[in-house]
Amino acid sequence: MRDFPAITADRVRELADQWDAVREGRSKDEADRLVRDCAERLTAEPTGEHAYLWTLGLLMTAEHTGWLTGDGVEGAALVALDAADTALRERPCGHRWHPYEDDLGERQDGLAHLLPLLRNGRSEAEDEQWRDTATKEQWLCPRNIAGYARVAIDVIDPGAVADIPPRLPLIDARKAQHLRSILWDYPNVDPAYELSDHAAALRDHPEGDGRAGLVVILHAACGYAVSGRIRGKWVLDEMIQALEAVLPALGDKPCAHRDGEHPRAGDDPAALATVGVHLLSTGGRGVYQWRGGIEGWHTPLEGWLCPAFLAGLAREALDRLLAGRGKLFGTRDTAHLDAEYLLPDGRLDIDTLTTTYRQSWVTEHDELVQNAALWAARRWAAGDGDERERAVLLLLACWAVDGMVIDIPRSVLGVLQEIFERVDPAPLDEPCPHPGGHPWEGLERLASRGYGVVGYRDTLIGAHLNHLCAPGDFEAPDEPFAPDAWSCPRHVAGRVRDALEVLYEVNESYEDDGDDAEGDADGW
Ligand SMILES: [Zn+2]
Ligand SMILES: [Zn+2]
Ligand SMILES: [Zn+2]
Repeated sequence: MRDFPAITADRVRELADQWDAVREGRSKDEADRLVRDCAERLTAEPTGEHAYLWTLGLLMTAEHTGWLTGDGVEGAALVALDAADTALRERPCGHRWHPYEDDLGERQDGLAHLLPLLRNGRSEAEDEQWRDTATKEQWLCPRNIAGYARVAIDVIDPGAVADIPPRLPLIDARKAQHLRSILWDYPNVDPAYELSDHAAALRDHPEGDGRAGLVVILHAACGYAVSGRIRGKWVLDEMIQALEAVLPALGDKPCAHRDGEHPRAGDDPAALATVGVHLLSTGGRGVYQWRGGIEGWHTPLEGWLCPAFLAGLAREALDRLLAGRGKLFGTRDTAHLDAEYLLPDGRLDIDTLTTTYRQSWVTEHDELVQNAALWAARRWAAGDGDERERAVLLLLACWAVDGMVIDIPRSVLGVLQEIFERVDPAPLDEPCPHPGGHPWEGLERLASRGYGVVGYRDTLIGAHLNHLCAPGDFEAPDEPFAPDAWSCPRHVAGRVRDALEVLYEVNESYEDDGDDAEGDADGW
């Protein structure tokens, strides 16, 4: 037998950190050696004083062991864990409960911190670092160690042992974490790929065991997907295909459930997605049942799994995704806005337009401002109006781009870009035909005097544009600019160039997100 070095307190701390590094995927090269070492030690002394340490070491590294280990490593770990379980599980104890009976997910993260504390000689009360609800004795109890040995076996080889609490598979615990981070709007993964993975799983197995969970997840995520945060149309396409694939599989038969026997989707998508993840596996469904519900839902599991209920969710999600895809990536029709933005005599209703554009910073008005920008750009492109009106239309569309900056959907971006590129840039290199500076820079200068002197920047711009466009209807603002400076080709071309730069930048970020630049916003 190998001669093992002594286990000091420092050594325990060191081992715990190494195992934690394996768990977090930081120590891939070392992983197999560490797992083998634990297995060897535990097999040598499954009832020894350090059995707890090697068992918890195998538990911390179990996810690695179940995935990508070298030859014989998994087998060695399973033999060792089985030996510990067999040797320790029947030991008498007076505890009514052991930590292993809790979810692993909640305790897993704390193990590296907890391990060195177990035998540091301090009672729980004296140990200010001890935050676990169980006592150290409960942790070290042979039955607890046997229990964790079984949990580790279950992580490595799901379903191989009984007598453990139902467990959300670790991979699903990660999925739940990822989905919550996305839906809380602080994604720690790429939302596009995470959502499309779930969509692909459903599309490929519309009759599969994970169907209910995937439908619930897609429903929970559909609001996010159509919020404009997903830049790739392909993600929405995949979610839509998945729901279209599952609907026939769910059928359209009514069910025998009564009111209240189906859960409500609720208004917390992150919580709903967490339930969805639990519905993916036997282990997760077991957790739901064992705890009598999760995340505030207590409807019996049957309600969640009911095909009629799921079909309702799938249809709702599909409708939202189809509508959202149209708005974000389709061709937006703005012809109906003539009624909104033209006066009965055919002139621009400039006050309604500037009032709309002034709201660009209000998130809920995103779509309104985007459509108004499209309308103005298209009207310019159609060649309507006199020189002054045409300058106003371009200035309005450029102003909108200033306000939108980041979240300009594909459906808007492509059209604006195409139209702006038709504006002749030649005047940028030519002298101005008018004396004095350009109004837009002048407005920036006026606005910089501060809110107390000139009011809101956008209100100021609105007042100037109103007067420029309809001097008979709107009083001249303080320090007005000459009409020929407004419509100066160099002034307008400069504004258009700046707006195009913003659009190119956003376009690039779409391409970084893997979306095809061609084909979506064709025709304006
Ligand atoms: Zn015990
Ligand atoms: Zn039902
Ligand atoms: Zn000029």
